[in-house]
Amino acid sequence: MSAGGLVLDGLSHAFAGLAVVREVSLSVKPGEILCLLGPSGCGKTTVLRIAAGLETPQRGRVLIDGREVVGPDILVPTEARNIGLMFQDFALFPHLKAIDNVAFGLAGLPSAQRRAAAREALERVGMAGAADSYPHTLSGGEQQRVALARAMASKPSVMLLDEPFSGLDARLRDRIRADTASLLKDDGTTTLMVTHDPEEAMLMADRIALMNDGRVLQEGAPIDLYRHPNSPFCASFLGETNLLEGFIKSGHAETALGAFAADGLAEGTPVEVHVRPEGLGLGTAETADAVPAVVIDARGLGPFARVRLRLGNGGPEVTVRIADFDLPRPGSRVTLTVDPAMVFVFPLQDR
Ligand code: ATP
Repeated sequence: MSAGGLVLDGLSHAFAGLAVVREVSLSVKPGEILCLLGPSGCGKTTVLRIAAGLETPQRGRVLIDGREVVGPDILVPTEARNIGLMFQDFALFPHLKAIDNVAFGLAGLPSAQRRAAAREALERVGMAGAADSYPHTLSGGEQQRVALARAMASKPSVMLLDEPFSGLDARLRDRIRADTASLLKDDGTTTLMVTHDPEEAMLMADRIALMNDGRVLQEGAPIDLYRHPNSPFCASFLGETNLLEGFIKSGHAETALGAFAADGLAEGTPVEVHVRPEGLGLGTAETADAVPAVVIDARGLGPFARVRLRLGNGGPEVTVRIADFDLPRPGSRVTLTVDPAMVFVFPLQDR
């Protein structure tokens, strides 16, 4: 296991004068899985490529296990960084058997030792039986496992993964994600993984760094980002939200769903209020704080159902998530209660 992990310090990079990475600083602690999450084009892959040595940043430093590999006076090449790499198109060599693909990453060891280490890596990903198969005879998921074995075989201290599961179908993806996370954890491998999929980041990461427009906007444990987003972007990127608008009155955001505490915002400030669908409770009790609504439609999705409602008399539309049984009929009158922990208030931003 490594001491020091991966440190990215003040990275900035532009392509043809267009800034795509702006002052990105991140530390991935030894043995930690950090997911760099963000929409397409926000600069995540460029950050990963800089860490890998496939791109040279215009500013900033990279340290691996306390050793500077990128800095004003130093540039250590990819192969001398002690990293494992796995990209979206995991590109196995088509003319090499699975075992030779894995052994390829172990240059420097005597041949017998190389094959033994490659076989062990294939065993760990459940692919020992396919050691002598060529890539084109393997399914996408099997090829992905071989690529993972190749990336892990040399026991790198830092693993860099770029959307490694995006080519796989949903069921296979779930299993391979879980297997990959537990292999990385077992080895204590420091991991930086790029994904645009919040669910994948929530499943795999110890910590998430959320990026947009070249910058890291928020960093923390997945559940903290979900429950305490620091911006409208973070609130809506991490999960579905209902968006309402309102104003600050007596320290509270007044909306069609009620008034919510909003410390530090001046009287009269226009605000946008994000409410997670699971923060709304559906019932019929007409208590003082319950908000009347009319059901627009209800759709069962298996594990839960999504109900669309119109608030009050011609008020805004909201979506609620409930258990998938006994769904309310369109047109029926219901009431909503709100869990304030699932309500996030921000000053209204120009859109
Ligand atoms: P995606 O999830 O779509 O891969 P990303 O967040 O990983 O997106 P990057 O691949 O880092 O984003 O790209 C950031 C921006 O930099 C994009 O606008 C992209 O077009 C641009 N870009 C990336 N590589 C180059 C390059 N070699 N030359 C010019 N522009 C580039």
